[in-house]
Amino acid sequence: MAVEREKMYECEVRRRRIKAGGGYEPYWKVKNVAEALVDEDTDFRCKDCGGAVKLLGRNGKAGTVPYVEHKLPADAEFCPSGLLFTKATDGREARPSVHPVQ
Ligand SMILES: [Zn+2]
Repeated sequence: MAVEREKMYECEVRRRRIKAGGGYEPYWKVKNVAEALVDEDTDFRCKDCGGAVKLLGRNGKAGTVPYVEHKLPADAEFCPSGLLFTKATDGREARPSVHPVQ
Protein backbone atom coordinates (compact mmCIF):
# COMPACT_ATOMS: atom_id res chain seq x y z
CA MET A 1 0.00 0.00 0.00
CA ALA A 2 1.28 3.42 -0.86
CA VAL A 3 2.19 5.61 2.04
CA GLU A 4 -0.15 8.52 2.29
CA ARG A 5 1.67 11.76 1.70
CA GLU A 6 0.97 15.17 2.93
CA LYS A 7 0.04 17.32 -0.04
CA MET A 8 -0.63 20.99 0.24
CA TYR A 9 -1.33 22.77 -3.00
CA GLU A 10 -1.20 26.22 -1.51
CA CYS A 11 1.70 27.83 0.28
CA GLU A 12 3.00 31.25 1.14
CA VAL A 13 5.72 32.83 -0.97
CA ARG A 14 8.02 35.63 -0.01
CA ARG A 15 7.47 38.76 -2.06
CA ARG A 16 8.76 42.28 -1.80
CA ARG A 17 6.79 45.46 -1.92
CA ILE A 18 7.72 49.09 -1.92
CA LYS A 19 7.72 50.51 1.56
CA ALA A 20 6.13 53.85 2.36
CA GLY A 21 9.07 56.22 2.55
CA GLY A 22 11.24 54.22 0.16
CA GLY A 23 12.97 50.89 -0.11
CA TYR A 24 11.44 47.44 -0.10
CA GLU A 25 9.96 45.26 2.57
CA PRO A 26 9.31 41.54 2.43
CA TYR A 27 5.86 40.10 2.95
CA TRP A 28 4.22 36.70 2.57
CA LYS A 29 1.50 35.97 0.10
CA VAL A 30 -0.72 32.89 -0.14
CA LYS A 31 -0.40 31.31 -3.51
CA ASN A 32 -1.11 28.15 -5.45
CA VAL A 33 2.13 26.12 -5.60
CA ALA A 34 1.90 25.54 -9.36
CA GLU A 35 1.45 29.28 -9.95
CA ALA A 36 4.35 30.11 -7.68
CA LEU A 37 6.60 27.90 -9.82
CA VAL A 38 5.46 29.59 -12.99
CA ASP A 39 6.22 32.94 -11.37
CA GLU A 40 9.63 31.61 -10.27
CA ASP A 41 9.12 32.26 -6.61
CA THR A 42 11.92 30.78 -4.55
CA ASP A 43 10.99 31.22 -0.90
CA PHE A 44 8.14 29.11 0.40
CA ARG A 45 6.57 28.37 3.73
CA CYS A 46 3.42 26.77 5.06
CA LYS A 47 0.48 29.16 4.85
CA ASP A 48 -1.01 27.87 8.09
CA CYS A 49 1.88 27.41 10.50
CA GLY A 50 4.69 29.35 8.81
CA GLY A 51 6.94 26.29 8.95
CA ALA A 52 9.51 25.27 6.35
CA VAL A 53 8.21 23.17 3.46
CA LYS A 54 9.65 20.93 0.78
CA LEU A 55 8.61 21.42 -2.80
CA LEU A 56 7.63 18.19 -4.51
CA GLY A 57 5.98 16.86 -7.65
CA ARG A 58 7.63 19.32 -9.99
CA ASN A 59 9.22 16.76 -12.32
CA GLY A 60 6.92 17.83 -15.13
CA LYS A 61 5.39 14.43 -15.75
CA ALA A 62 1.93 14.61 -17.25
CA GLY A 63 -0.72 14.77 -14.59
CA THR A 64 1.74 15.76 -11.87
CA VAL A 65 0.69 18.70 -9.78
CA PRO A 66 3.39 20.31 -7.68
CA TYR A 67 2.78 20.55 -3.95
CA VAL A 68 4.56 21.19 -0.70
CA GLU A 69 4.87 19.22 2.50
CA HIS A 70 6.29 20.14 5.89
CA LYS A 71 10.02 19.69 6.31
CA LEU A 72 9.69 19.16 10.02
CA PRO A 73 7.45 16.40 11.35
CA ALA A 74 6.94 18.58 14.43
CA ASP A 75 5.19 21.16 12.23
CA ALA A 76 3.01 18.56 10.53
CA GLU A 77 1.94 17.30 13.94
CA PHE A 78 0.50 20.65 14.99
CA CYS A 79 -0.30 22.52 11.78
CA PRO A 80 -4.01 22.70 10.88
CA SER A 81 -3.04 21.52 7.36
CA GLY A 82 -0.62 18.86 8.59
CA LEU A 83 -1.31 15.26 7.76
CA LEU A 84 -0.15 14.12 11.19
CA PHE A 85 -2.31 16.76 12.84
CA THR A 86 -5.47 15.85 10.94
CA LYS A 87 -4.88 12.20 11.75
CA ALA A 88 -4.26 12.77 15.44
CA THR A 89 -7.06 11.53 17.65
CA ASP A 90 -5.94 13.02 20.93
CA GLY A 91 -7.82 16.30 20.55
CA ARG A 92 -4.64 18.35 20.29
CA GLU A 93 -4.72 22.01 19.41
CA ALA A 94 -3.07 23.43 16.32
CA ARG A 95 -0.21 25.85 16.87
CA PRO A 96 2.20 27.81 14.68
CA SER A 97 5.59 26.37 13.82
CA VAL A 98 8.20 26.53 16.55
CA HIS A 99 10.71 27.40 13.80
CA PRO A 100 8.76 29.59 11.41
CA VAL A 101 10.41 30.81 8.23
CA GLN A 102 10.92 34.53 8.67
ZN1 LIG B 1 1.99 24.05 8.34
